[in-house]
Amino acid sequence: MASDTKKRRTETILNERKYEEGKWLHTILTLCYDMDTKSSIILTPLKIDVCNANTSKGTSFSKAFCDTTQYDEGYMFGDIFGNGITVLTNYEEDESTPTDKPLLLVLQKLLDFLNSSRNINLPNKHSLQSISETELTVLVANHLLGKLGTSSCYLIDENCCGKKRDNCFCGETSCKMTGEYGDTSIGNMEVWHGNLDILINNDLAVKPLDENPDSPGGKSATDVKLRNDLQRNPQIIAQTIVFSFLQKKRHPERSNFLTPCIGIGSTELIVMLYDSEHDVLLESSTVPLFEQDLSLKFSFQAILVCWLTVNYKFFCCGLDERYRKHKSNFFVHAKEKIQIYEDKLTLGNVCNTTQLNDRNILLPPSKLLRSKKVHDNTATLLNCLKKVSQFEYPDSNDIGSTSSSK
Ligand SMILES: [Zn+2]
Repeated sequence: MASDTKKRRTETILNERKYEEGKWLHTILTLCYDMDTKSSIILTPLKIDVCNANTSKGTSFSKAFCDTTQYDEGYMFGDIFGNGITVLTNYEEDESTPTDKPLLLVLQKLLDFLNSSRNINLPNKHSLQSISETELTVLVANHLLGKLGTSSCYLIDENCCGKKRDNCFCGETSCKMTGEYGDTSIGNMEVWHGNLDILINNDLAVKPLDENPDSPGGKSATDVKLRNDLQRNPQIIAQTIVFSFLQKKRHPERSNFLTPCIGIGSTELIVMLYDSEHDVLLESSTVPLFEQDLSLKFSFQAILVCWLTVNYKFFCCGLDERYRKHKSNFFVHAKEKIQIYEDKLTLGNVCNTTQLNDRNILLPPSKLLRSKKVHDNTATLLNCLKKVSQFEYPDSNDIGSTSSSK
């Protein structure tokens, strides 16, 4: 009986499709090829010029500095998460679903999310500006990240300055917090260390951007400031690198150690990834969090990028040979202490935090490398999109042609 109900429920989720399919396909494609540089999600390899990963006394994340320059080549986000894009491509092509149970579960989670309202219902729209970045990050964890993975558990830094509460920051009494407060410290006192702001299911670090009470009111000025803080942010880089070494130590069985960390600003997010086996550091383009800045309706891109990132242990296929040559040189910079990074990092019982920032805006790379897999998926998705657009927008067949004219 119960399993019949469950089966029916599963079928409903898989067949429901209450979301705009053309727009969704278009979003998947923005991760697969360079449709137009503005909306494509690209991963840019970074090279560390100078950093304090190696100081004699050890450095907390809040005091971490790390100057980087970018390589001229970049990869598509969907290429690195090729296993996830393949799951979506197969589903879009002929509704086929993964036979692997965890993959089917996370696909259902995604479809369920897409079929729901995608909104955060704050009691009044303006209160988004009245909550802190940390509170917004908890809100995103509770309303988005926690809903897309195999588990909705997450841990919030018990030392965080925001108000600790049992119910969700959105204020709806029916909205329960699936996370709790605890010790999120990682690293080792002799090297980079500190508290992660949020740790999703013991597997993914999430970092809010700090508030800028002095930032000017003008939209574009705030935007620039925001990008400065989000991109090439030394704290996010330090956390990502330490977390990747830690994951390699905790999960030596994994096929690759390319480990992500999400940085969340008030309107955008980025994903930073570090491969502690091949020494490659990647930063994503910025992803809009909401459909419109104040809409509080999660954008398709944010949902897709977060879904792939939260489930990276299933979806991230690691770096293939030609992507491994873009070394970050962290191993060189941390040479004297590399054994501590390799062997002596821990999760919990490490130590404390404060702040720092600056940085340049990333330019899109001039060359993009793509694997055959992402190339094939792109072709299939474009075909699906063509079919859907004829159906959804009979008056315009731009979508397919604009993008393929590129
Ligand atoms: Zn809520």
